[in-house]
Amino acid sequence: MSAAAPPDALERALKQFFGYDRFRPQQQAIVEGALQNRDLLVVMPTGGGKSLCFQLPALLKSGVTVVVSPLIALMQDQVESLQNNGIAATFINSTIPLTEARERARLVMVGEIKLLYVSPERLLSDRFLLFVDRLRDRVGISGFAIDEAHCVSEWGHDFRPEYRQLKQLRSRYPGVPVMALTATATERVRGDIIEQLELQTPDIHIASFYRPNLHYEVRPKGRRTYVDIVKMIQEGGSGIIYCMSRRQVEELAFKLQRDNISALPYHAGLEDAERAANQTRFIRDDVQIIVATIAFGMGINKPDVRFVIHYDLPRSLENYYQESGRSGRDSEPSRCILFLSYGDISKIEWIISQKDDPQEQRIARQQLRRVIDYADATDCRQSILLRYFGENSLSKCGNCDNCKTPQQEEDWTLEAMKFLSCVARCRQ
Ligand code: ADP
Ligand code: ZN
Repeated sequence: MSAAAPPDALERALKQFFGYDRFRPQQQAIVEGALQNRDLLVVMPTGGGKSLCFQLPALLKSGVTVVVSPLIALMQDQVESLQNNGIAATFINSTIPLTEARERARLVMVGEIKLLYVSPERLLSDRFLLFVDRLRDRVGISGFAIDEAHCVSEWGHDFRPEYRQLKQLRSRYPGVPVMALTATATERVRGDIIEQLELQTPDIHIASFYRPNLHYEVRPKGRRTYVDIVKMIQEGGSGIIYCMSRRQVEELAFKLQRDNISALPYHAGLEDAERAANQTRFIRDDVQIIVATIAFGMGINKPDVRFVIHYDLPRSLENYYQESGRSGRDSEPSRCILFLSYGDISKIEWIISQKDDPQEQRIARQQLRRVIDYADATDCRQSILLRYFGENSLSKCGNCDNCKTPQQEEDWTLEAMKFLSCVARCRQ
C-alpha cells in the first residue's frame, strides 16, 4: 500500500487484520505518520490501544518491524494474540532455546515474519546487530517500535540504563523510522525520550489520561484506618491495597485474613510459584483482595478492580497514576483512596537520605514533594494528575473528594496536618 492510502483503505485494513470497525482517537493519525516513515512519539494510557499503532503499519509496509519490549511476559502475550489473529509475528529472547531461536531467525530472514519482538539486551548484542544488518539488506526493516520508551529516562518511574543504548539504532540504521511508545510520560520524560532516542522532528501524539469513572480521595491515616478499609472491602468488589514494605504487606494481609476477609499477599520476597498463584487467584476472583508492594500490577489487566487503596504514600505521582489506574478498566465507577500520614513522609525521607547517588536523591525528593502537594491539595485531584502529565483541559472532574465536598475552613485537623507537612518539607 502506498503512503498516501485513502483513509477508508486504512479502516478496511483495520477491519481485515484486527476486526475493529473504527480507530480510537489518535490511532489513525499515528498509523498515517508511520506509513510516511516519520519518527513518532506516542503517549497513551494503558489500555488505550498503543500496540495497534505499530502493528497495523508493520502489516502494511514491506519488510520487518522490530519491536523492542522490556517485559518478556508481555512480549509473549502480544505475539500469541497476534498469531491467533493469523498475523506473522514472533519473538526472540533469553527464554527461547537456541535451536528454536535459530529457526525463528530463519523465518524472519526469509521474509515470513512482519513483526519481530526482542528485548533491548538481545537486540543490542553484537551478534544480533549483525543479524539485523543482514535483515536490513535482504528483507528490509520497516521500522523500530520502542515500547515502554519512558525506560530511557531517569525521570520516569522505571529507568533502565540499557535503554539508553538504543540510540545506536539511529546511527546504525539512519533511514529506518523509530516509533517510541509509553503509557507514562511527563513533559520532562517526553523530552528525554526524544533526546535519548534521537527522534527526528517526531510527530507527537498524546492521548488523554482522564478517567471519568474514577473517584479519587485522600484520607488521613490514623487509628480508624483499618476499620475504614474493612468497611470498604465489605461493600464488595475486587480491590488492591498497596503498602510500602513486604513486612507491612504480610501484616495487613494476615490481619484481614484473621477478620475473615479473603485476602492474599504479593511481594518480591515470596517464592515465584506462590506469588504467581496469588496473582492468578486474584485475577480469577478466587480471592477478593490482594495486598501488595508495587511489585504487583505490571501488565495486569483485570477489568473489574473496584478500588485501589494506597495504605502508604506512592513514590511519585506517575506511580500513583499507574497504580490507582488499575481500578475501573471496565469504565464502571471505582475508587482510588490514598491514606496520608505525615509520619510516613519522614519515613520516606529517611529512606531517600540513605541513597548513595545524590542525583537519585534529588529526583526522589522532588517526586515526593509532588505527591505531598497532591495529597495536600484542595482543588480537583484528577486535574492535578492530568496536569502532571501536561494535560490542562480539565478543571473539575466533579467526582473526587475535593470536587464533591470542598474543604471547610473549620476543619482544623487538616490545617494542623498542613502545618506539620510544611515542617516536614522544610526538613524540620
Ligand atoms: P496499550 O498497549 O495501550 O495498553 P493495547 O494495545 O493492549 O493497549 O490495547 C488495549 C485493548 O484495546 C486491546 O484489547 C485492543 O485489542 C483494544 N483495541 C485497540 N485498538 C482498538 C480499536 N481501534 N477498536 C477496538 N478495540 C481496540
Ligand atoms: Zn475532581
